[in-house]
Amino acid sequence: MLENQLLSNSVDLNSSFEEKMQISKIRKLDRSIGNNLKMFYGYRCQICGELIGEEYSAHVVEAHLIDYFVKIINNNSSNQLIVCPIHNRIIHKVNPVFDRKNKVLNIVMKKTRSNA
Ligand SMILES: [Zn+2]
Ligand SMILES: [Zn+2]
Repeated sequence: MLENQLLSNSVDLNSSFEEKMQISKIRKLDRSIGNNLKMFYGYRCQICGELIGEEYSAHVVEAHLIDYFVKIINNNSSNQLIVCPIHNRIIHKVNPVFDRKNKVLNIVMKKTRSNA
């Protein structure tokens, strides 16, 4: 589709707000563990080393829980990885296997497709 067509002809007449009552589970965890780790790593991603948001006087870095269980959440520092938002998204999409023997920095990405 041409850019002009896309920009002028894409109209969503049905966009609106929907009110819903729902019961939701809220994660209860001690944020100070992740916050201390972020500080320890200088607010840099443990994968790419990127420091994001500094020019806006903000630190945009996230604490990823390596083993995430719905019933029991392991929030211990040994289960956390400090990563930039992009790597956090990639981890959630790719679902990599972590090499604990060689510490969290060595990530063995699960190959979903073979290039052979
Ligand atoms: Zn990163
Ligand atoms: Zn995560």
